[in-house]
Amino acid sequence: MHDYLSGLNERQREAVLHCNGPIMIVAGAGSGKTKVLTTRIAHLMAHHKVDSFNILALTFTNKAAKEMKERVEKILHNTEARNLYIGTFHSVFARILRAEAHNLGYPNSFTIYDTDDAKGVIKTVVNELNLDDKIYKPNVVYNRISSAKNALVGPEEYARDYGIQQEDLRANRPAMAQIYDAYAKRCFKNGAMDFDDLLLNMYKLLKNHPDALSKYQRKFKYILIDEYQDTNPAQYEIIKLLGAMHENICVVGDDAQSIYSFRGATIQNILQFQKDYDDVKVVKLEQNYRSSQNIISVANEVIKNNKGQIPKNLWTDNAEGEKIKLVRTASDNDEGKFVADTIKELKLRNHISNKDVAILYRTNAQSRAFEESLRRLAIPYIIYGGLSFYQRKEVKDMVAYLRVIANPKDEEALKRIINYPVRGIGKTTIDKAVLFANANNISMWDVLVNAQQFGFKSGTLEAIDQFVTMIQMFQSELPKRNAYEIAFAVGKNTNLVKELFNDKSTEGVARYENVQELLNSIKEFTETPMNEEDGEVGDKGLGTYLQQITLLTDADNKDPDADVVKLMTIHAAKGLEFPVVFAAGLEETLFPSAMSINTREELEEERRLFYVVITRAKQKLFITHANSRYRFGSLIQNEPSRFIEEIPNEFLDRTSAGGGPRNQTGSWGGGSAFDRMRGGYGNSAQEAEKQYGAPPAKKAATPSYIAPKPAAKTVEHVPTKDFVPSDTTT
Ligand code: ATP
Ligand code: MG
Repeated sequence: MHDYLSGLNERQREAVLHCNGPIMIVAGAGSGKTKVLTTRIAHLMAHHKVDSFNILALTFTNKAAKEMKERVEKILHNTEARNLYIGTFHSVFARILRAEAHNLGYPNSFTIYDTDDAKGVIKTVVNELNLDDKIYKPNVVYNRISSAKNALVGPEEYARDYGIQQEDLRANRPAMAQIYDAYAKRCFKNGAMDFDDLLLNMYKLLKNHPDALSKYQRKFKYILIDEYQDTNPAQYEIIKLLGAMHENICVVGDDAQSIYSFRGATIQNILQFQKDYDDVKVVKLEQNYRSSQNIISVANEVIKNNKGQIPKNLWTDNAEGEKIKLVRTASDNDEGKFVADTIKELKLRNHISNKDVAILYRTNAQSRAFEESLRRLAIPYIIYGGLSFYQRKEVKDMVAYLRVIANPKDEEALKRIINYPVRGIGKTTIDKAVLFANANNISMWDVLVNAQQFGFKSGTLEAIDQFVTMIQMFQSELPKRNAYEIAFAVGKNTNLVKELFNDKSTEGVARYENVQELLNSIKEFTETPMNEEDGEVGDKGLGTYLQQITLLTDADNKDPDADVVKLMTIHAAKGLEFPVVFAAGLEETLFPSAMSINTREELEEERRLFYVVITRAKQKLFITHANSRYRFGSLIQNEPSRFIEEIPNEFLDRTSAGGGPRNQTGSWGGGSAFDRMRGGYGNSAQEAEKQYGAPPAKKAATPSYIAPKPAAKTVEHVPTKDFVPSDTTT
């Protein structure tokens, strides 16, 4: 028997050994689902001699994907795992779309718009359509379009669908279909896809291009998906198409941990899986290896209040463990103080390291109190979520240059840098250029390139000409230079780095360091070995680099081994485990959220979220709640969360008394384009984002607190062939 099989229990082994045909593993938290998935990949390669190029594994975070590759590499003792297509849905599809872009009329160097870019385009089209941007707020429109795309509803279907129309009318937003259409056309013209387009276009590619479909069906002989409970209709349809030829699909999930229905994910995908294929092998794993008996008992007690769960009996052989500490504090600041004091004590008495501890909360804004108290005790920490490195202005500016060089049609990026650093191309000129572009149905870049035809003043013309020449110089270097060499030259030739360097204010120094850090990371990218299949063309080039960073979430950039306390939302903690967990803010209106108590479905999702946080803990679990806290600028009194009442007293070690349970009300929803969108503005991703902070695959729109960034390393590397376009002056 292979070594890697001996560490598995019988059920797990059965799942790993099952080779051909569809298999579904529905299992509780910490029962080894991810371990099975990883071992299965290794087994397919080591035992069944499946070529690594023929395996596709989809996970929810880049971090999980990276870990999976490393674990397979460790089992196999070779580098074959690098050839696996392992990644998030978005990153894997982006890679495929890049190769197939011509099929969809996109340039291969298409840009990926992050949430901010997308909202910028929405603002532009709302203005151009002369609509009121107070009614058609970028956030609202973005989330509406996002829901549509994740339900595979394109602009035409959107405009035709009666249910959708009615809903837009009720919301007093009758022009939504028009905006969606204009937005989609504008993105296409800019050669750009937003995050949701990566799914929608992948679907279109497979659906409308039989050659591409059969190519990827033949390629991906084995498909594996982790966290299947959180897939949405678009992802479901794509997997179904990709897997249709071989039907070697392995999905792994836990219905009790489905926490993304606000983004259109549906547990139906689990239930449907068994109906979609004739011969589905279903494996249940019930032994938990992660947590103490007490923690598992509490998790079971809580989740049994949800109706309609797939029956599972999660148990563990682990020790009974300590009771769960339930701690009531007077205020959010006291909560922060309690947590920091406790961490200090645990370190002293129990020899627990910072990195063993996670503080998990419902909303990003809750991090403030913890940050303050951790700082006071000099306990190092990292916040996942919040303002991503790549969302900082100076980093975005630099990246915008790289984007324009890779894809000059990218209007958002172009507008960002055309006059930064200042080069005498003012707002009037930019507005004119956009206007000319629209009137002539060409890109803004085309207007700039042919500026003399459009009647700009001579001084402006000269500035435009210099700018265009500079960008074209960089472009001409693209085939010969890697991403770092290009970025380095950009920093130098645009005077961008120099300008930041000359700013000696505290913020200026931080901005300079951030740009240096960006250059470091690009250097690192060009030096990391990659997948063989990508070939020499551009595998270290700008295009590949840009794709990668747009899809990075904040968590991906952080050193997992650093000895720091981790702070994140519960959503971001999915799939992770920590010896010590603080589940914070267990209060009515906060958790469950005030916006999620109107229907049974919403409330049950909140409860699943509670189940997720409980089951992250291995040994010690603290549940905290505050009597009062500042929210949205005023002091609010909160009762303890109803979920606390669902934990039998025998498992609790209370530091204070709690409140009473509430009534639950609600109804179930029903199935058209409209239903797939889960209808309603009330349940939009916007609210979700406000509540949950940034969903892991996307970035936060309005993050509140930023972790202190470790001092940046300085760039020491100078490219061997330091190229300086000679005739550019800025
Ligand atoms: P989640 O639902 O949170 O995603 P999971 O089902 O994916 O959890 P894993 O993360 O794969 O569970 O495993 C949980 C922990 O249990 C890990 O530390 C893993 O190494 C360990 N584990 C899993 N199976 C075994 C086993 N047979 N023997 C020992 N440890 C195991
Ligand atoms: Mg897992």
